[in-house]
Amino acid sequence: MATQAQDSIVAAATPPGRGGIAVVRVSGALSREVARAVLGLIPQPRVATYRRFFDADGESIDEGIALFFPAPASFTGEDVLELHGHGGPVVVDLIVKRVLECGARLARPGEFTERAYLNNKLDLAQAEAVADLIDSATAAAARAAMRSLRGEFSDEVRALNEALIELRMFVEAAIDFPEEEVDFLSAGELAERLARVLRVLAALESQARQGQLLRDGMIVVIAGRPNAGKSSLLNRLAGYDAAIVTPEPGTTRDVLKERIEVDGMPLTIIDTAGLRDVADAVESEGVRRARAEMTRADRVLFVIDVTAVSEADALEEELRRLPQGIAVTRVYNKIDLTSAAEARVVRNPGNSAEVWLSALSGAGLDLLRAHLKDCMGFIASDSGTVSARRRHLDALARARRHLDEAQRQLIERRAGELMAEELRAAQSALGEITGEVTSDDLLARIFSSFCIGK
Ligand code: GDP
Repeated sequence: MATQAQDSIVAAATPPGRGGIAVVRVSGALSREVARAVLGLIPQPRVATYRRFFDADGESIDEGIALFFPAPASFTGEDVLELHGHGGPVVVDLIVKRVLECGARLARPGEFTERAYLNNKLDLAQAEAVADLIDSATAAAARAAMRSLRGEFSDEVRALNEALIELRMFVEAAIDFPEEEVDFLSAGELAERLARVLRVLAALESQARQGQLLRDGMIVVIAGRPNAGKSSLLNRLAGYDAAIVTPEPGTTRDVLKERIEVDGMPLTIIDTAGLRDVADAVESEGVRRARAEMTRADRVLFVIDVTAVSEADALEEELRRLPQGIAVTRVYNKIDLTSAAEARVVRNPGNSAEVWLSALSGAGLDLLRAHLKDCMGFIASDSGTVSARRRHLDALARARRHLDEAQRQLIERRAGELMAEELRAAQSALGEITGEVTSDDLLARIFSSFCIGK
């Protein structure tokens, strides 16, 4: 159902700045009135119409293409008018002001997409995919977002939901006819169906995990003593000179962020000012920020100069100063300087690891890249990956916990009522992904992170 009763909104749909064209988008019941006022006519639906755009005194503001999409066949599901004018900030401003005079108001961030969601043109996961497509950092992420936008992720969530509804019907029938309950609940079929749903959920979770990785990637902190080769390693990974490499200790003065890509996985690398306590105020600020960044990291790459391992005690001490709970990979660098060491990866117990490499020659860099993907469980495959967010992963994980519990109730206790309750909870967790179950809070949080005009 289109909600034409609410305000009509307007915003530039193209980014600010100068360009060939800029698109001003109007959505809502006033679109027709705006068209009459600005163009002197309502363009034929979906037909590009070349017109002059007039101000209130009948003076030309601009000329360009106008497109009219009557409800409900539009992006938002409401009447939508698009004015494609010349791409200059002043022109755009004049057109927007003209539309405001007609009674529309400025759109809030994400409001066009929010209306599309509210009018059932998109579900919530698809609406999020719009933003993810626009913000995607890599080509693989863009393709995954496009799949989610087309509804591939939502379809799988819905199929799972259907299977849950069937299960619930079974279980609730058993509760309603208690004389058959024992037989029914002990029959293998129910357990079998539940196990099948759990398998589908597991597959969806791992797919969503890949999608979330494609979107958010991995945060890695490069730490280590001055001159260990942190900047050189960063440059190697990034493929160009992002940090200034000098043979002088303590030259990386600030936290340096670099976003690169490892086979489609975005990698945010944070190079630090080192972990030394120094009197130098600038460096100390760098040290403080480095520590703050580190607590959010997925992994620390602790770079060690193999030719300086005699500093073993100092190294151990620095390692102890790293935030607890973040896995550390010790990168033994400069293996080109010793004949004894060759490039390799060693997995140690407790999720720590060692990589032996040379930032200078590049030997072992491929091992490091593979190791980083490994750490996140990233599988570089472009086929069928959908985009997903942490929010979706959380919901899937909650659904899984409820289904695990349902399984326990069924197998250990044959407790139909409790099982039905868990199935209901799992269903509602899944409903949060597509937005069938939602709160105003959640919607506000999601759409406010969009930019204006989306
Ligand atoms: P940072 O202070 O940890 O950032 O260290 P840099 O990246 O600035 O490197 C310090 C010095 O070590 C520079 O002269 C680099 O050229 C050198 N270096 C870095 N990695 C290697 C390596 O793998 N082999 C050799 N031989 N020298 C390296």
